[in-house]
Order: sequence, then C-alpha cells, then structure tokens
Amino acid sequence: MQQLKKKVKAEAPGKTSIFTLRFEQLQDWLKEQQERAFRADQIFEWLYQKRVESFEEMTNLSKTLRQKLIDAFSITALKEATRQESSDGTVKLLFELQDGYTIETVVMKHNYGNSVCVTTQVGCRLGCTFCASTLGGLKRNLEAGEITAQVLEAQRALDEKGERVDSVVIMGIGEPFDNYDELISFLKVINHDKGLNIGARHITVSTSGVVPRIYDFADENMQINFAISLHAPNTEIRSRLMPVNRAWPLDKLMDSIRYYQKKTNRRITFEYGLFGGVNDQVEHAEELAELIKGLKCHVNLIPVNYVPERDYVRTSKNDIFAFERTLKEHGVNVTIRREQGHDIDAACGQLRAKERKQETR
Ligand code: SAH
Repeated sequence: MQQLKKKVKAEAPGKTSIFTLRFEQLQDWLKEQQERAFRADQIFEWLYQKRVESFEEMTNLSKTLRQKLIDAFSITALKEATRQESSDGTVKLLFELQDGYTIETVVMKHNYGNSVCVTTQVGCRLGCTFCASTLGGLKRNLEAGEITAQVLEAQRALDEKGERVDSVVIMGIGEPFDNYDELISFLKVINHDKGLNIGARHITVSTSGVVPRIYDFADENMQINFAISLHAPNTEIRSRLMPVNRAWPLDKLMDSIRYYQKKTNRRITFEYGLFGGVNDQVEHAEELAELIKGLKCHVNLIPVNYVPERDYVRTSKNDIFAFERTLKEHGVNVTIRREQGHDIDAACGQLRAKERKQETR
C-alpha cells in the first residue's frame, strides 16, 4: 500500500468554495480584507442557517464586502442529478460535481431522526474485496466544501418536509482518513454552532484502518463517534478481505485503537461484516471476543450486501444469531445492523462512483 503515502489533492476546479472554509479561516480572510471579525458569524448564518444561494442575498453585509466575496469564492453547492426514494423512506441523492464526476449521499429515516451518510472521495483506493465503492479505483479527493455541501443539500431536501438533519455518518464512498485534512475541515464546519450545528456526539466517522490517521484523530480531541471496519478476528482473514491490512496489520491497528481509547475515553464501534463461509462461524466470534477484550466497545454486525461484481454470500439467519449469541456470552455489546435502502442500492458497500467522466480522460 505504498501508494497510500502519496497525497492526492482535492482539486475541484474553479474558485475556492465558500463551504470549504473553517470559521477561523473565514475570520482570517476578513481580517486581510480589513473587515471586522464578527462578519464571519453573519456569513456563516447566511450560509448554514438561512441557507441562501447567493452572496447578494447577504443583505446585512456592505455591498463592497459582498462584491469581495463574489470575486474570491464560489457559493454554488452541488447539482442534484437524481433523487431516488426507497420504500422504507431512505433517499439517495446523486450529485454532479463541477468536473462532471458524480457522488452519492444517502438520507436515512430512523426513529431517532434523520441521518445523512456522506461521501469523502470520488471512488476509493483501498480495494476491500467486498465493496462496490472501490471498483473503479480513486478518481480524486473531495474538497471539504463538497462534503459539507452534501449535508447542506440533504438539509435543503428535508426543509421541504420541515425536518432537520439530526446526525451525520461519514460512511459513504471513500476512505475518510485518506482525505484527512478536508475531513477535519468538514467536521469543524458542520459541528460549529454558527454552522450546521450538528453535535459531535451525533457525528460518526468510520475508517477501514489507516493507522497513522487514527493517532492523529485521537489527538484532535473532538467528541465525535468513531467506528472501525474490522471485519475479521485475525490478521490472515483480514488481509484476505481488506488489502489495507497488509500495510497496517491487525496488531498495529489494535495498538492505535487502544491509544485512541486511552486518549479520549470514548466507546468505539467495530463494524463486522458477516461474509458467508469466511468469517461468520462461532469460532470466529470467540476469537473476535478475545481480540477486543478490555476495550470499551460495541460490535455492529452487518450481513453482507449484494454487490454484483463480488461473489460473497450471505450468512444464514441461524448463523447470524449464533454469532451474536456467542459474542453476548463473552460479555460483548452487540447489535445486528438493520439495513435500509436495499431496493435503491443505498445500503452499506453498495454505493459506487459513477465514472461518467472516465471515458473522456
Ligand atoms: N472507508 C470507510 C467508510 C465506509 S463505511 C470504512 O471502510 O470504514 C461503509 C461500511 O460498509 C464499511 O464498514 C464497509 O466495510 C462496509 N461494506 C462495504 N461493502 C459491504 C458489503 N458488500 N456488505 C456489507 N458491508 C459492506
């Protein structure tokens, strides 16, 4: 996984999107323009609370400042290409980016509110053998603004029903820790009280195990929920399922997770996909319980979702329950994930970057 060390730039074409700026960066820019710092509060309110679509509408700013904003930044968010609604209420939004690539965002309705699942990269380079998002490789990183705009657009879609985005999960296409700086800017903007004001405890970041970034994330000291796509009870099985395990083997991953927990004292979630005949037997559950012993954690079992190009089979109901029972007997906190949006290919691992632009490159 040598290539992961290479940094892929987020390169949305054109002017910098205003949605890419952290609050402090906007304050710094205002200072350079000899404007007062509190203008940042006003601009954030216009962008994220009133959700205007142009700088002209920011009527409590001077005409000169509005013109400076127009000259320096773009405010166009994302162009919605299609919207699909599942019979269970899940909505999948397909957006077209400025350079023609498309990305997917999913809005799920739970009894505790609306949750938005965002994408962080166009494609993915991690090559997990069961996942659809990695099939065409990585095209480019998303800019923070392009990630933020997904939540903003989801909120606009919910505005139509008088509802709000209650929580955000970074579990769409891409590996968030392979686009780390943009991810952190995005998290700061949606969490900011003048921004979308989504509480850290209502945000969940999931990683496949990019170990160095797990240490960085622990040091950020944000109260954000953290999930790890574990999927295996030992390093051999994990390497078969996830090439990322060859770069950062399981013992290194577990070290970083223990560091994270020591630093933050936060409970972590392990996502464990059940792949028929690979990792879904009682002996695997026992090995898993042993592996995570002593950690304050929760295991989320995900029955594998159908991906046409992948030939994994679903675990039988009986085996799923036996796996769950075994973990419980070992004192592990466990739930089975209820899948949503199956009929519109919006469930875990089914999202895919559509490579419309590929032919022209
Ligand atoms: N790259 C990050 C964020 C993606 S989250 C990560 O790997 O954590 C999406 C979750 O769905 C991950 O846990 C992923 O491993 C899982 N997944 C991918 N393909 C799947 C499939 N076919 N069936 C079930 N889960 C899948």
